[in-house]
Amino acid sequence: MRDFELVRPSSLAEAIALLDTEDGGVRAFSGGTGLMLMMKTGVFTPTSLVRLDGIEPEHAAIGIDDDGSLRIGALATLSTVEHSPIVQKVAPLIPEAMKRLANVRVRNAARIGGNLAHGDPHMDLPPVLAALHASVRAVGPDGERTIAVEDLFAGYYETVLGRGELLTQVIVPSQAGWASVYHKCTTRSADDWPALGVAVSLRVVDGVIADSRLMVSAATEKLTRLVTAEAQLKGAETKAETFARAADAAVAEAETIDDARGSAEYKSSLLHVYVRRALRDALSRGALQ
Ligand SMILES: Cc1cc2nc3c(=O)[nH]c(=O)nc-3n(C[C@H](O)[C@H](O)[C@H](O)COP(=O)(O)OP(=O)(O)OC[C@H]3O[C@@H](n4cnc5c(N)ncnc54)[C@H](O)[C@@H]3O)c2cc1C
Repeated sequence: MRDFELVRPSSLAEAIALLDTEDGGVRAFSGGTGLMLMMKTGVFTPTSLVRLDGIEPEHAAIGIDDDGSLRIGALATLSTVEHSPIVQKVAPLIPEAMKRLANVRVRNAARIGGNLAHGDPHMDLPPVLAALHASVRAVGPDGERTIAVEDLFAGYYETVLGRGELLTQVIVPSQAGWASVYHKCTTRSADDWPALGVAVSLRVVDGVIADSRLMVSAATEKLTRLVTAEAQLKGAETKAETFARAADAAVAEAETIDDARGSAEYKSSLLHVYVRRALRDALSRGALQ
């Protein structure tokens, strides 16, 4: 491994200034769990790592707004998020998904901002957060903006974040009236990176699906919202036939890929099963308001 510099700014502004450079070897370092894997395998060789753990503590805080939205600082560790009573109250799907996300050692080090900014499609939180209609706040040299989680990913390990731009917050709106489920299929151990991740949120009124959000990840090059499957659900009754039609649409729509966890064809078959299963389970979780 080549020598590199490790710097620890004490403010967000200082971190952004350090990262605002043409040098692709300069990177933000939050928990380091993703970066270390890339460095060990030689995929990434840093010239300078900018540690974020010295910046203002508010960027690791978790709170709730007057309108019931949850705000999670990008520097909160996954373990802190997992055990937060506030997160449990507003969005219990997040801590539930954490139980099978890597292991305690990784969750103690990794931070929610690093998890989203890494752009690895095999991540559990992006589909969960996108199904919950979450967005992120990003701050960079040109100011700040809000990006829906479903729009954060540009491709395989690629996000829409610009040079020097840092995630500072994840915002999850109130989930009143919605029921959500995340199902992960692993082809190795239960807490491995998924071969397929499917997250579903449903809002059902008088036995009819008023609204839905369907996300697939891991089996596709990037997090994908299944809009034609959602269209099959809108206004339909909560019957097995409806869920099967949505699963057919999901398979037609999702561009599954081959990788070490299975062929594209295998993942399309999994998708059909998991979309139906997730819809059924979301319904039984109380989407019957
Ligand atoms: C053994 C192992 C098993 C794992 N299993 C799973 C699993 O089952 N499911 C799963 O979802 N994940 C899994 N992971 C991945 C893990 O969740 C990620 O490595 C982790 O969430 C990344 O967060 P981090 O804080 O460590 O990011 P870092 O490694 O510090 O950073 C990752 C990337 O994000 C950038 N970055 C960091 N913070 C910010 C920020 N605030 N704003 C902008 N850019 C930023 C960095 O520059 C870097 O490019 C596993 C990892 C390991 C090591």
